[in-house]
Amino acid sequence: MRKEDCIFCKIANGEIPSKSLYEDEKFRVILDLGPAAKGHSLILPKDHAANLYELPEKLAGDAMILAKKMASLLTEKLNCDGINLVQNNGEAAGQTVEHFHIHLIPRYKGDGQNINWVPGKPSQEELEAVRKQILE
Ligand code: 5GP
Ligand code: ZN
Repeated sequence: MRKEDCIFCKIANGEIPSKSLYEDEKFRVILDLGPAAKGHSLILPKDHAANLYELPEKLAGDAMILAKKMASLLTEKLNCDGINLVQNNGEAAGQTVEHFHIHLIPRYKGDGQNINWVPGKPSQEELEAVRKQILE
């Protein structure tokens, strides 16, 4: 189902034009308007799901299979040296458009981009406490 006033619903379903790379019954893949690197693309489901939590399991699986195919295509055609898959859920995680999407970011040696975090240094006890919190 589409959601009124969702820009990615409109783009995915062709109501708003985009630089489209691929389309099938369930998905459209487009070039990002603010690319982190040449070929930065977005996989958009045609049905609205705000984020990964809302995405039906079957579509989640299909999206990852499509990500694999698009990663190979982008790598072959753009001759990139690697690729990042990024998928943000929630404002705290950097999500700005509330329609599930997967970023495919081709990477080039020395491109100067930063898709990184500052690593923490937890003790074994702290790691164990987190493990318990998740599993209990
Ligand atoms: P998020 O921060 O939600 O994970 O990523 C949203 C992405 O959508 C950003 O990389 C942004 O550049 C891209 N974006 C936002 N609006 C549009 C649009 O209208 N068209 C396209 N092609 N990309 C968009
Ligand atoms: Zn939507």
